[in-house]
Amino acid sequence: MRILKTISYQSRLPSSAGLAYNEEMRLFDTLTRTETEIRPIDGKTYRFYCCGPTVYGPAHIGNFRTFVLQDVFRRALETGGTATLHVRNLTDVDDKTIRDSQKAGQTLEAFTKIWTEKFHADCTALACQPPHIEPSAIEHIPQQIAMIAELIEKGHAYASDDGSVYFRISSFPNYGRLSRLDERELDLGKTQNARADADEYEKDSISDFVLWKSRRDEDGENFWESPWGQGRPGWHLECSAMIREYLGDSFDLHSGGVDLIFPHHENEIAQSQCACGGHFAAHWFHITHLLVDGGKMSKSLGNMYTLSDLEAKGFTAMEVRYVLIGAHYRKQLNFTLDSLSGAKEALAKLAKSAAKLAENMGGETALNSADFGPFQGAWESLNDDLNTPGALGGIFTGLRDASKLTGKEAAAALAGLNRILRALGITLPEISSAATDIPTEIRELAETRWAARSAKDWAASDKLRDELAAQGWVVKDGKDGYELSKI
Ligand code: AMP
Ligand code: ZN
Repeated sequence: MRILKTISYQSRLPSSAGLAYNEEMRLFDTLTRTETEIRPIDGKTYRFYCCGPTVYGPAHIGNFRTFVLQDVFRRALETGGTATLHVRNLTDVDDKTIRDSQKAGQTLEAFTKIWTEKFHADCTALACQPPHIEPSAIEHIPQQIAMIAELIEKGHAYASDDGSVYFRISSFPNYGRLSRLDERELDLGKTQNARADADEYEKDSISDFVLWKSRRDEDGENFWESPWGQGRPGWHLECSAMIREYLGDSFDLHSGGVDLIFPHHENEIAQSQCACGGHFAAHWFHITHLLVDGGKMSKSLGNMYTLSDLEAKGFTAMEVRYVLIGAHYRKQLNFTLDSLSGAKEALAKLAKSAAKLAENMGGETALNSADFGPFQGAWESLNDDLNTPGALGGIFTGLRDASKLTGKEAAAALAGLNRILRALGITLPEISSAATDIPTEIRELAETRWAARSAKDWAASDKLRDELAAQGWVVKDGKDGYELSKI
C-alpha cells in the first residue's frame, strides 16, 4: 500500500512579474470559437495551465508540436512584456503508466522517473522553457481525494458498490459546451446509467466518468487508502486538483492537443466548476494534431518519431523545432523527413543573412532593443492568433529589407532580428565567416566539381578545378568533402 504524503512544492516564481501586459496578442478560443485578446484577469500575471506528458515512454514529435507551440505562446507574451505563470503537470498515475511499469517490473515512481528525465532532456534540446511549476499526480493524491469528497457532498458524484466513485454528468447542465455535444446530437438523458472506467474513451460514449477507481489486481501495489476504500484516482481528476492547488478556481488559459477537448477537458470543467464554483479557464487553446506522411501518429499505432529518432538521422533539435512551428497551430501539420531537410536549409539561409547583417554593422554593436525594426511584420503575425508560419515568412522579408542597411541601422535591425528569434525560440546554426565570404557562383562550381569527382568523372572534375583556379580559388579534397580557399 502507498502512504499519503503532503508535498510542499517549491515553485519557481516568474522572473518577469509585475510588467504590463502585451496589448497586442489575440488568440482563438475553443469555447467561444472567436479570437479574443489575451489579458491577465488579475491585470498582472498571465496564469496558464498545460496538460503535461503521460510519462510511460518517450514523447513523440506530435506531443512536441503541442509543447513547442505552448512555449512559443509563452515566449510571445513575455517578449511583449506580459509576466506569465506556466503550470504543466506530469501524468504519472493512470492506466498506461501503471500497465507499463508492471510490464517493466519497476515501481511506478522508478519507471515514470526515467521517462520524466527523458522528457526534460528533449524539452531542453527543443528550447522549450521549463514551466514555473511542474506538479506530478502521484504527489497530489490527498488533494484529489479531497476534491472527490467535495463532489460527493455537493451531489455531483456517487460511490458504486465496488468502492469506485463516478461523476454524475446529469448534475452539471453545462456538460458538453466545450466540445459542443449538442452538435453531435447525443442525448445526455440516455446516458444516465452508463459509466466509463477507462481514462480515455471515444467521442460518442458520453457517460458518468470515474473519479476514483477501486483497487484491482492488475494495479499491483499502486493503490491508496480513501474514504471509499483502497484504490487510485482517475486521470481527469488530477488536472482539476492540481489547477486548484496552484492556480485557484479561476485562471487565464488552459491548453493541450485537440484530442484532449473531449473527454478530458470537458470532464475537468465539470469537476472543477462543480467542486470550486469558479469559472475555471477563461480561454481554451488547443493545438491541432501533427500527422506523419498524411496519417495519424500515436504511440499505440507504433508510427511515431521521437526526437532521438530524428537526431539519429542527422537532424538537429532546432531543425525539428523549426518544422513544428512551420504550420499554423489550428491547421494539421503533415510531417515528412523532407520538411526537416527544408528546415536545415532555411536555418542555414537565415544564419547566413544574419551574419551578413552583422558584417554590415561595421564597428557598431547590436544592443538589446524594444523595437522589431524590419521584423515588425513578423511580430505582428505572431500576435495575430500565433501565426508562426507568418512570423517565419516575415523574418525572411525583414532580412531582405535589412540587407541594404549599414552601421547603426544594421545594428538596430540585428537587435530586432534577435528579439523575434527569441520570441520563436529559434537559435541560428553557427556558420564560419569564411563560408559566408564565398560567392555563390564559386560555391556552385565547387559543388558541381565535387559531384563529378564523387562520380569518378575525373576529366570533368579537373576541368572544374582549373576553372576555379582561374577565378582565384583553390580546392583541397578530403575524405567526406572539400575546402575552398582564396589563392
Ligand atoms: P500525452 O503524453 O499523450 O498525454 O500527450 C501530451 C500532449 O500531446 C497532449 O496535449 C496531447 O493532446 C498532445 N498530443 C498527442 N498527440 C499529438 C499529435 N499527434 N499532435 C499534436 N499534439 C499531440
Ligand atoms: Zn489535463
